[in-house]
Amino acid sequence: MSRLPIIAGNWKMNNTVKETKALLTELLPLVKDAACEIVICVPYTSIAAAKKLMRGTNVKLGAENVHWAEKGAFTGEISADMLKELKVAYVIIGHSERRQYFGETDETVNKRVKAALSRKLKPIICVGETLAERESGRTDEVVIGQTKGAFDGIAKRELKNIVIAYEPVWAIGTGRTATADDADNTIAVIRKAVKKLYGSAAAEDIRIQYGGSMNAKNADELMAKPNIDGGLIGGASLKAVDFAKIVSAAK
Ligand code: PEP
Repeated sequence: MSRLPIIAGNWKMNNTVKETKALLTELLPLVKDAACEIVICVPYTSIAAAKKLMRGTNVKLGAENVHWAEKGAFTGEISADMLKELKVAYVIIGHSERRQYFGETDETVNKRVKAALSRKLKPIICVGETLAERESGRTDEVVIGQTKGAFDGIAKRELKNIVIAYEPVWAIGTGRTATADDADNTIAVIRKAVKKLYGSAAAEDIRIQYGGSMNAKNADELMAKPNIDGGLIGGASLKAVDFAKIVSAAK
């Protein structure tokens, strides 16, 4: 098993261009010797400035969403071509905040994944259960359903370009983290769902991150688990020193 861990920051709706420059100027030297892949997903308005600062570094650029249409009357949306032109490498799709506040469904997630892949953007597909779903014992059913939905019609050869992030909704931005064992077990369930769809080799190869209040203190324990291939980091990605500590936990 040789999956390269991937740590991705999700800045969400934080950081002006000025703040972007300050944070990246502090962060980039701290992570330059990392043993994992690093991605920072920034707001659209920060993409150009971030790209300039990341040039020649080991940090890749990500966006936080992408629309499925090539172009047209979709006020406020951004196309895969627009992101590609700005040399974006990764894009978060199906984040629980998009599902919760902006009506994202498994179907729209799937359409966005297809659009991203068609322009050689690498999707980070988020799946995860709500607290109510967890408490009613539906975690496995939910993450399996979301995984199947996201991958509908996606060819096996594309799997190397896709990362999954398991993000229990109740753990995002709340300070509550899934225990390392729980996270590892649910990621194993997701891996099994990928196996059912694409076979053992694909399931062994695909990288699945954990996300949900991962921080400088709990990263080591989470990352030590065999199924956890890195993290999608919200709050802690806004502090250079904390994010760098998480990066150093991914070996
Ligand atoms: C996220 O936004 O994907 C996330 C995991 O946020 P946080 O780390 O703040 O819980």
